[in-house]
Amino acid sequence: MRRLSSRALASLYDESKERMQPSDRQDWLNLRLAKQIHFAYRHAPAVRIALDRAGVPPRHLKCIKDLERLPVTTKDDLLKLQRADPPFGGLLAVPLNSLNRIYVSPGPMFDAFGNERVRATLRSFVRRGLPKRGDIVMVSTAYHMVPAGLLVTDALDALGCTVIPAGTGQTELQVRILHDLKATAIFSFPSFVMTILQKAEEMGYDIRRDFNLRYVSGGGEKHIQLLRKIFEQKYGLVVNDSYGTADLGPVAYDCGLGTGYHYEDQEAIIEIVDPQTGKQAKPMEVGEIVVTLLSRTYPLVRFGTGDLASYTVDQCGCGRTAPRITRIMGMIGEHIRVKGMFVHMRELDEAFSGLPEVLRYQLLLKLDGHRDRIELKAETRATANRGILSELITRRCQEVFKLKIDEIEFLPSGTLAADCKKVIDTRWT
Ligand SMILES: [Zn+2]
Repeated sequence: MRRLSSRALASLYDESKERMQPSDRQDWLNLRLAKQIHFAYRHAPAVRIALDRAGVPPRHLKCIKDLERLPVTTKDDLLKLQRADPPFGGLLAVPLNSLNRIYVSPGPMFDAFGNERVRATLRSFVRRGLPKRGDIVMVSTAYHMVPAGLLVTDALDALGCTVIPAGTGQTELQVRILHDLKATAIFSFPSFVMTILQKAEEMGYDIRRDFNLRYVSGGGEKHIQLLRKIFEQKYGLVVNDSYGTADLGPVAYDCGLGTGYHYEDQEAIIEIVDPQTGKQAKPMEVGEIVVTLLSRTYPLVRFGTGDLASYTVDQCGCGRTAPRITRIMGMIGEHIRVKGMFVHMRELDEAFSGLPEVLRYQLLLKLDGHRDRIELKAETRATANRGILSELITRRCQEVFKLKIDEIEFLPSGTLAADCKKVIDTRWT
């Protein structure tokens, strides 16, 4: 996206829509949803098949409540659709070569991003007033395959910022960039921002005195709430946070009060859904975050993110009336989100199936201060060379799902039960 004029930027954000009465908001959403369903039915064959199969013609889907009549499409379902009918499983509503970006997220899953996904990202900046035109922004998230770095860069370009595409790793170099280029903002996962700031301190810098940094942003990690206070109080930074996934981009945002994530309902319809029944949960009940994109490019209907959360419709101090996701409580199903990446259980099996010396395995996900920590318990034959195997496991895990295992504990054969959980996540407890 090219740099937008001030007028075009202002038109992205309509204050009156943010504050409309809840009943008006509902009417507005229902109207747009009904139109979207008609569009998706006409232009995305997979949506047409799903509605026909459910016996629900588009004209019967008039409001958000009616969505309960359709099944939730899980990430697994989407992978199957994509495999059966590559690349987008009959969900793409435009010619493939009209897409500006196609991302690949773990799975592997293809993600079609239309301009509306960039707009949603851009709107979150305009809404907060940060970053703004003229800011120098270091983007310290992955640029290859996944949408993180490039999506943010597209939005920052449109806003008129100067972008340093730093990517991940090379912490010392990132500190140098931050200092020498007088960057005013960092976009990254909160734990990596903290790693950069701590490295800067180790190198003898004082963040407030020696840097021009005012703003940090990032999402996808539970411990933003732990880190938020440190960013704000210790370093005097403004924190922006949002909720999104690799398949959707950002779909909910923190207004700055830290009271949850308001639904970004300009571009998406969000439901919190009981994973067993598919029915919409009541406020403060736990359910899966399910998203219908109001997209003319990639009209996903009832896509189940796998994230568990609750929501509230209580008035927010900011005056906005969009409901808020109050807490992300973990994940259901076949995916885990760790170190900012989604990993499919099948990828775990794939990684270890290439290591016949590992008889059984179990991953323990922990929080080490502000960082995710991955510990592996691996059952091996007595004859296995643990030194070599340790290196093989590390390399294999990085190849298959791009994650570093922090610690490997080898166990004698027969220690882990045959039906033991392959992942134990203690980060949420
Ligand atoms: Zn708010």
